[in-house]
Amino acid sequence: MRLRNKPWAKDKIAAYPQYVIPNPEQYKGRWNELFGNDHPIHIEIGTGKGRFITEMAKAHPDVNYIGIELYKSVIVSALDKLIENDLPNLRLLNVNAKDLMNIFAKGEVERIYLNFSDPWPKKRHEKRRLTYKTFLELYENILVDEGEIHFKTDNQGLFEYSLVSFSQYGLVLQNVSLDLHNSDFEGNIMTEYEQKFAEKGNRIYRCEAKYRKPMQ
Ligand code: SAM
Repeated sequence: MRLRNKPWAKDKIAAYPQYVIPNPEQYKGRWNELFGNDHPIHIEIGTGKGRFITEMAKAHPDVNYIGIELYKSVIVSALDKLIENDLPNLRLLNVNAKDLMNIFAKGEVERIYLNFSDPWPKKRHEKRRLTYKTFLELYENILVDEGEIHFKTDNQGLFEYSLVSFSQYGLVLQNVSLDLHNSDFEGNIMTEYEQKFAEKGNRIYRCEAKYRKPMQ
């Protein structure tokens, strides 16, 4: 992602603590109190400019959504969408995904969306890929039993790598599509990157990976 310097982003984010939650660690284990209901929580890691999570929150008012984005200069665009729509079931976090375990308790998240994650194609950067095994372990520590990762990308290399990483970790793959936009998948909501890559003629890959029920 090309980052534009937006020195004003920090102040804008600070002005909307009801939308971009400051010190999210304080809600670990009690996110449903913040939302005021017991609806399931779905998070998107690397939410970017926020179109996907905003449209999902509009389409599914009975699910609570949390968009997680590392960069202030990017999340500020997601914040604009949230200000415009004032959705009670969507909140944003300006944090690094590495810190997820400080923010969510085990079983607090039902589903994780990874959309067009940075591919980090060099082998020496493998550990930075959001589908690397240490991230899969991290996700397991916040997800419900049999929680799911829903993953989309246009990057064939990252998709192939991720299928292997998911299966080596013991996840069950389902609904694998090698050409999402020409498949019978219903209700797809395009992300900003998805639209850009699809317009260039790139194929979009998608899969769901489900954690197995722990042995009793
Ligand atoms: N999902 C969006 C889309 O499809 O339009 C954005 C895709 S962009 C290629 C990847 C995003 O993930 C960037 O905005 C980046 O800052 C964010 N990101 C990468 N690593 C992250 C991490 N460890 N924690 C939070 N966000 C991260």
